[in-house]
Amino acid sequence: MKPARKIVPPTEAAPSEENPFEAMMQRFDQAAERLSLDPGVYKILRTPEKQLITSIPVMMDNGELEVFRGYRVLYNTSRGPAKGGIRFDLNVTLDEVTALAAWMTWKCAVVNIPFGGAKGGVVCDPFRLSQSELERLTRRYTASILDVLGPESDVPAPDLNTNEQVMAWIMDTYSMHKRHTVTAVVTGKPIIMGGSAGRREATGRGVQMVVKQALRELKLPLHGARVAVQGFGNVGSVAARLLEADGLTVVAISDKTGGVYNSQGIYTDAASRWVHENRFLEGFPHGERITNEQLLELEVDVLIPAALENVITRRNAPNVQARIIAEGANGPTTALADKILDEKGVFVIPDILANAGGVTVSYFEWVQNREGYFWSEEVVNQRLRDVMIQSFEHVLQYSRQHNVNLRTAAYMLAIDRVAAVHRLRGIYA
Ligand code: GLU
Repeated sequence: MKPARKIVPPTEAAPSEENPFEAMMQRFDQAAERLSLDPGVYKILRTPEKQLITSIPVMMDNGELEVFRGYRVLYNTSRGPAKGGIRFDLNVTLDEVTALAAWMTWKCAVVNIPFGGAKGGVVCDPFRLSQSELERLTRRYTASILDVLGPESDVPAPDLNTNEQVMAWIMDTYSMHKRHTVTAVVTGKPIIMGGSAGRREATGRGVQMVVKQALRELKLPLHGARVAVQGFGNVGSVAARLLEADGLTVVAISDKTGGVYNSQGIYTDAASRWVHENRFLEGFPHGERITNEQLLELEVDVLIPAALENVITRRNAPNVQARIIAEGANGPTTALADKILDEKGVFVIPDILANAGGVTVSYFEWVQNREGYFWSEEVVNQRLRDVMIQSFEHVLQYSRQHNVNLRTAAYMLAIDRVAAVHRLRGIYA
């Protein structure tokens, strides 16, 4: 008899260290094993609930028709409506969106907010689209995923290269179809149309909170602690500004044009003003130019990768000198790098905890929309603080109890919570 031909799944053929879905799965498997997860629930949690692939025809300003590809993945909705951002980027793939949707599932569970996980993406270069092309693209994409959207079913938010304006168009398109205004269908909206105070800064603020907790935990002085931040967008710039205000020294920042280093500290307000006026950090005069790769290897106390996936890999992990890494981005560290950092004793605050401030205030926004009653920024920030500190402490305790690092502890805690709901709900047959 001829031996059966081995079928290699496409994810196996890809360079595995950089495949985000595999990166997520490797961590998931480690945690599931430690939890002795029962095989049935294990199978359910390894599989996305729903994956939509849509084509998005858009009439361009020059009169030509372009067709874009869009995705929306609902990874798991056992704990509540699916929640997660939408990104517009040339590198969007179904694998990436699926991994990010799974990460949202674990993230919502780590901070214990009643949402499942989702993510969406459109393959496009938003920097080359006019404002009206971007609007038509957003509306047509929204129309194509209308069946899954809804305050009770799937609630998008901003992510890479999407913002409050994009959320406003999504909310309007959805509301036009429903024939009435539905604010709670998206979060991260402009405040004037139902957004929450503090939402824009929430991810960066959450990063600031966990960094301070980590410094305390390691008994390192806050004042003068040296910080390097990769990515000076919505997450990185806010985290840098807040940590500077707390007395830490931000010695390096970067964006996609490269980085700046100044051992005396970079005045983050000046950097924000520069970016506001010039769009990118390039040319910012108050420091030495460095590359994004060099930034990751600087001698600092705290490293905040707040840009893209897969920037800390097995190749550069041995050179990382930071004592603490706070993952502002989703998936900045590969699974192979995890091991190396672990052996070096780096205190890694994993993405599903470190950057959960954004979705936490998204939850507050959704609650406020449904109540029709709005909270002050002080109340939002205080409640965010409560959630972040409590979650940090919880993950830390869990890691000590089970003798695992913070990432494995966060995954275990999250998977345990999602699995418990699956067991209680049972299987509808
Ligand atoms: N895109 C953000 C994240 O990755 C926020 C998601 C949300 O607020 O729903 O966590």
